[in-house]
Amino acid sequence: MSNQPRQAGRHFLQIPGPTPVPERVMNAMSQQILDHRGPQFQALGKRVLSSVKSIFKTTGHVIIFPASGTGAWEAALVNTLSPGDKIVMVETGQFGTLWKVMAERMGLQVDFIPTDWRIGGDANVIEQRLRQDTAHEIKAVCIVHNETATGCRTWPDEIRKAMNAASHPALLMVDTVSSLASMDLRHDEWGIDVTISGSQKGLMLPPGLSFTAVSEKALAASKSATLPRAFWNWDDMIANNASGFFPYTPATGLLYGLDEAIKMLHEEGLDNVFARHERHAEAVRRAVRGWGLEILCRDPKYYSPVVTSVMMPEGHNADTFRKIVLETFNMSLGTGLNKLAGKVFRIGHLGDTNDLTIMGALTGVEMGLDVAGVPHKKGGVAAAMDYLASVAKPAAVKAA
Ligand SMILES: *Cc1c(COP(=O)(O)O)cnc(C)c1O
Repeated sequence: MSNQPRQAGRHFLQIPGPTPVPERVMNAMSQQILDHRGPQFQALGKRVLSSVKSIFKTTGHVIIFPASGTGAWEAALVNTLSPGDKIVMVETGQFGTLWKVMAERMGLQVDFIPTDWRIGGDANVIEQRLRQDTAHEIKAVCIVHNETATGCRTWPDEIRKAMNAASHPALLMVDTVSSLASMDLRHDEWGIDVTISGSQKGLMLPPGLSFTAVSEKALAASKSATLPRAFWNWDDMIANNASGFFPYTPATGLLYGLDEAIKMLHEEGLDNVFARHERHAEAVRRAVRGWGLEILCRDPKYYSPVVTSVMMPEGHNADTFRKIVLETFNMSLGTGLNKLAGKVFRIGHLGDTNDLTIMGALTGVEMGLDVAGVPHKKGGVAAAMDYLASVAKPAAVKAA
């Protein structure tokens, strides 16, 4: 028990993942454990292994390991690459950096394209790198679709075009841990070779499932790749998955939850889900501007639909502010990671959110700025409210 008195009402979990789990998903998960080699599991396994493809927009294999997103990063690398292979990665922020550190631990040679952590990956820079590599030594280009640490997106379709323009055969790997089921992602159409994801962000599940969607080209690469792999071996998974089973005990409870979450996403419609995230992101940005604060992402082209990092005014610590918001209003905001520590706080607006939860979160931030004595202007919440109300009006009312 914490020594804090109980705070009434619901905790506002406004970090960019894990995200709140909807009641329907929690209910779906609260079932007795079943035999993972029996017919009841087989039906569930077949169902989720097939329906999850619709979320990645692929007809190929989506491999589900019991792990956090970090596990899927590792699976992607060890299945497709060999020691000493050259790969290109982009330093978009802390997640781009962690993936790079992992690659180096595995003995890969990383060409790490720097940024100032305020922008997404630039397709032109990647194209130049690939054009210079006439010997085709670069085996993979790895990008982070949504850099959760900064709130800057990278456009995988543009990166694919750049790779094609350079006629380069490298694999394209995309980390979609914080973007899948919140931002459009088209594994097949965009020519992605490995799409990496996790359960606890846009998919509205608890942490514990990781995903790799795999192209035919990535599968072919896995036949000759020599990085050591055991647990992460795609072959064992694909062989067992064919009949709905797993090579070892799967996270059965989470798979029940996944089944339900996929249903919910299709009931709302994926395009509506993406539009909702864009709308909430716009509302949050209007609020930030209304407060007279600065958005970390410095180019609107790269604005993230799922998380907004807000820069603290000089002389004020973002973590002190976050602590005050937590203790006063029972809301968790995202912390600044690595070199952004203390300098930014992050407002997560992804997963099972609606206009009123977003407004509640923004109200908590505006009141928190007041309580913490952070210099700001009033009117951020009002600006967000005006925006959400205006886009909610039916077309006829708007025209009148
Ligand atoms: C959360 C996240 C990860 C890592 O996920 P874990 O589940 O914590 O291992 C990787 N990449 C991005 C972009 C993320 O947001």
